[in-house]
Amino acid sequence: MSRSRIAEVQPLSGFDKSLYYTISQEITDQLEVGSLVRIPLGTRSVLGLIFSLNPVAQLDGLKLKKIHSLVQKEPVISEELIKLARWMSIYYSSSIETVLETMIPAPIRNGMQASTQRFLQLEQKISEAHVLSKLKRSPKQKILYDYLKSNDGTPVKTREVMRTLSINESVINGLLSKGIARIVTEISERIAYLDEIDQDEKVEMVEHILTKEQSESIKSISSDLSLQKFTCRLLEGVTGSGKTEVYIQAMKIALSQDRGVIFLVPEVALAPQTVSRLRNAFQGNEDVVVWHSHLSAGERLDSWRKLSQGRARIAVGARSAVFAPVQQLGLVVVDEEHEPAFKQEDNPRYHARDIAVYRAKINNAICLLGSATPSMESFRNVQTGKYSLSKLTKRIDGRELPLIHLVDMRRESIDKKTPTTLSFQLIEALRQRFRNGEQSILFLNRRGFNTSVFCSDCGEYEQCKDCSVGLTYHRNDDYLKCHLCGYRKRTPIVCPKCKSINLRKQGYGTQRIEDIVSKLMPKNATVVRVDGDTLGKKNLLRYILRDFRIGKIDVLIGTQMIAKGLDFPNVTLVGVVDADLPLRMEDFRSSERAFQLLTQVAGRAGRGDRHGEVLIQTYAPHTPCIQYARKADLDGFIEEEMELRRELGYPPYRHLIRHVFRSRSLEKTEFYINQWKNFLNERPIADLIIKGPVVAPIEKIKGFYRYHLIYFTSNTTKAVRFLNERRNEFILDQDVLDILDVDAINLQ
Ligand code: ADP
Ligand code: ZN
Ligand code: ZN
Repeated sequence: MSRSRIAEVQPLSGFDKSLYYTISQEITDQLEVGSLVRIPLGTRSVLGLIFSLNPVAQLDGLKLKKIHSLVQKEPVISEELIKLARWMSIYYSSSIETVLETMIPAPIRNGMQASTQRFLQLEQKISEAHVLSKLKRSPKQKILYDYLKSNDGTPVKTREVMRTLSINESVINGLLSKGIARIVTEISERIAYLDEIDQDEKVEMVEHILTKEQSESIKSISSDLSLQKFTCRLLEGVTGSGKTEVYIQAMKIALSQDRGVIFLVPEVALAPQTVSRLRNAFQGNEDVVVWHSHLSAGERLDSWRKLSQGRARIAVGARSAVFAPVQQLGLVVVDEEHEPAFKQEDNPRYHARDIAVYRAKINNAICLLGSATPSMESFRNVQTGKYSLSKLTKRIDGRELPLIHLVDMRRESIDKKTPTTLSFQLIEALRQRFRNGEQSILFLNRRGFNTSVFCSDCGEYEQCKDCSVGLTYHRNDDYLKCHLCGYRKRTPIVCPKCKSINLRKQGYGTQRIEDIVSKLMPKNATVVRVDGDTLGKKNLLRYILRDFRIGKIDVLIGTQMIAKGLDFPNVTLVGVVDADLPLRMEDFRSSERAFQLLTQVAGRAGRGDRHGEVLIQTYAPHTPCIQYARKADLDGFIEEEMELRRELGYPPYRHLIRHVFRSRSLEKTEFYINQWKNFLNERPIADLIIKGPVVAPIEKIKGFYRYHLIYFTSNTTKAVRFLNERRNEFILDQDVLDILDVDAINLQ
């Protein structure tokens, strides 16, 4: 058997390993790496991807099956992405099949063809007299002919013309069969978000004169790009320092080298804003493709084709855009690289920023990570020389960073005996801004009306029946809801336990703050809230942000989504209702999170000509991370936090792997995770520190009890391989599921 007729094929359903097949004579010239084929697998016939042709594997003596047929020659995945998939599958301990499902959108994986539109067009060479004689006895066809002629010969959509003239297909067929007109087909392409960039969102196109710091950063990036080999650069730039301008210039250089660009944003909601900024910067000369999981199948397919055929060279999107089939990739930009949202919480549990770095590497491309508050991981990589660093230390036009004041809430409560939500200082500041015709943002990291409902007689809290968290009261429908699983129930009138009617609502969410602020502000002030509940409604967030931009809203209240990337020049006050919230979570990253959030939120203030002010309400004003945020002392914070992490051997000094066990039975979960730990300890390896097991901070989700172990290691790949070997030998009860989360971010 000759070598040239064997292919390595990855089945796309129900098999986690690539297999070898022979290729029949008829299709042998057509196959490419990435082509979609149909193969026999057991008794089934399934879709598969050509992973490689003429593999060097030792196959002598093996009896191989033959590929059934070629489904689609045009590659569904490039060689480069196959390499990435293989790496991801090992690194994140995830099946290659799951990885491919994440990387390749379903319509492409299934070989769906682009949808086409039919147009009707007059034949040009044919004489008018000849036509008229032919149509003498067909009045309807004559009408159609006249219509097409009046259109100056431009093709018209068949469907539209049928509707406009109230004719059916046979009339069109008449003209076709007489050779008077013909059909032309065109692939229809839908541009996602095109409708979203309407007039008032269009940013004025201004050629900025770059600041000295911007120019220096661009110079470094330019020399990175000219080397045409992999480098990663961290762009640390305070909020409002013009990072986006640097990204755009970097993109222009990459494009001028005929290379493509991927631009990642942490949140889908931020994509339209970025897209309109980029489309503006490129003045319609570049097609900017939006890439995210909310696209319809048709939109996905169109975007995919545009990119993979090289007709578009820029892809923008959240997490999954890191897999966009951009050709000749030259630059990957990751904006707000520190954002936890880049980590996927389902299998495959990948971190889009880390994938971006790896993908740049295999393409000899540049990865540009930008943030005002970079992650500890990226700082560490700068320290060890893996990444280079550019800094933007000043805001554009020398605008100052906003003044940050801490409001000690302990005093506020003592004075008034009962705990308050909003301090006098904050309320006064809000009123002041309104009088000045300026805007304010109030930030709270919790949605809903109140944290929960509790009984003031017996202390009973309303908890989710399936999760170990309190239910949140939602005023508009009078329901209690679980934010983890979506469980909801009507708010009770009497305590379910002691039947008392003294039920209290305690704590506060965005809805409650909205209520309080609306009451305290002058009647004609407009107060609007955005949070996860708002986001559920299509386009609502967009409209709210637009109204805010054009000044129709005076006070915007929201959760973390308004802390990121948004740029509103007239905002002069930002209030943080509860700075301590992230600190109450049991997580070694809580200080980092709190620092980042405060800095990002503060960065929303004073981006215009007027000075900004930030009021942070806290019960722990002396906490270092809050103090560092107040002083805008990133270096100080990093230094202290790094030292702490180094002492403890936590990330970024070691990698962290979280190993969760879960089942419907608390006892079983606990028993098996302990068994597993003992099993591991029978044959310990040096580079794997094991912590736990302990019950997870959120003990129960959707009825599943959860325990976890945390591993620390300096070599993830080795550790994962070792753990998987051991897992294969370990007999786990079939009711218990165990999950590895490599470089876990969420430890809840
Ligand atoms: P960042 O992303 O660092 O927070 P942006 O990129 O959003 O900052 O820039 C802040 C504002 O400054 C934007 O309105 C942007 O158009 C403007 N800007 C950026 N660079 C310049 C420049 N060189 N001259 C004038 N304005 C600039
Ligand atoms: Zn009670
Ligand atoms: Zn729940």
